[in-house]
Amino acid sequence: MNLFEKLIATYDTSLDKNGVSGERLASRLAALSKIGLTADNGSYRIGFSKEEKAAKDLVKEWMSEAGLTVTQDGAGNVFGRLEGKNPNLPALMSGSHVDSVPNGGHFDGPLGVLAALEVVSAWKQTGFVPERPFEVTIFSDEEGARFNGGLSGSTSMIGEAKKEDYLPKKDIHGDSFTKVLEDVGLSAEEFFNSQKDLSKLEAFVEIHIEQGKRLEQAGVPVGIVTGIAGPCWLKMTFTGVAGHAGNTPMNDRKDALVAASQFIHEVQSLPGQVSSSAVATIGKVDVLPNGANVIPGEVRLIVDIRDIKKDTRDRLVEMVIEKAQSISTAHGIELHYEETLREAPVPIAEDMQQKLEKSVVAQGIEPVYLPSGAGHDAMIVGRALPVAMIFVQSKDGISHNPAEWSSLNDCVQSVHVLKDFVEGYDL
Ligand SMILES: [Zn+2]
Repeated sequence: MNLFEKLIATYDTSLDKNGVSGERLASRLAALSKIGLTADNGSYRIGFSKEEKAAKDLVKEWMSEAGLTVTQDGAGNVFGRLEGKNPNLPALMSGSHVDSVPNGGHFDGPLGVLAALEVVSAWKQTGFVPERPFEVTIFSDEEGARFNGGLSGSTSMIGEAKKEDYLPKKDIHGDSFTKVLEDVGLSAEEFFNSQKDLSKLEAFVEIHIEQGKRLEQAGVPVGIVTGIAGPCWLKMTFTGVAGHAGNTPMNDRKDALVAASQFIHEVQSLPGQVSSSAVATIGKVDVLPNGANVIPGEVRLIVDIRDIKKDTRDRLVEMVIEKAQSISTAHGIELHYEETLREAPVPIAEDMQQKLEKSVVAQGIEPVYLPSGAGHDAMIVGRALPVAMIFVQSKDGISHNPAEWSSLNDCVQSVHVLKDFVEGYDL
């Protein structure tokens, strides 16, 4: 079964109302999925690739058909604008990205773009004209599979893309940032010159798959995002003394791995002490010299710490450092740490969440609130504008994988929520 057939097979056609068409959304998701389709039925459309460009070009055609005025900025971000009754009011913007990780899925990104476009297609059928302008947006290179960065398009749009961060970059093939952009008809010069006039934008709302299991567990199609967690990375080195496993008595050891293990174990209890949304993860550990008969002399690890509020996230960072220090001292181990990343969390304003709740309840859906642990374009745009996010249920929480799945029913429900949100925004 191809993606279209699979989507439509379980579709509840009673969700086709107020101009919204599940079949149209499914056919567009399926058409995009064919661009960069991998042998595993996954998606290969990395940022600034010809596949990402082809996906944008296809969406541009649909935007024009839906009556939108299509423009593209120097970063390759695409804007499809519908004028409102009052064209002088700042626009509401909604969208996401169409790039993917290598062998990714077909919903992460495309759903947010096509759901926003579906709202406009529905209006075309019903004749509805929104109060303020509405812009359907595709941001370039969100995933960062190409340059190990990501969120490039949204960063450029808010005027925060710095030459010193981008120009030295080499992509996965060793090509320079300048060359990669030129290969898809863009220019690095224009990339740094693409800040949008933010005073002409009211807010940005993004529909995105959850990439987690909470909505599935709650049994709801969509959820209201409370904030986007900002990660902080601590690179830690525990240094003890390497020695022979046979000849060093147990009471005369400085085993770096024993100390690091205790630390890893105890870190688990810290996030819950600061907030219910905070998390801390140690997913990368290097043991040196890493020999079966050698006492570990050094352990290097990275702690990934996140929360949706800056104060609790920063408090957790302090607690993790204190924990590492006290355990190291107790074991006679030396500790070095450095912070290699600290991104500001983006809280989502209460009034935006309330507006979304109204739209969720209007669909007869129980409102469920959840944080976003992953970064999204809304996180970047949220530095400059009010943002809101709607998550759509992901099957088994699987993402960045060909098995990524959201049912068409749930996708269409998110369109109804977004449509209601935009229509009711100024009421
Ligand atoms: Zn995404």
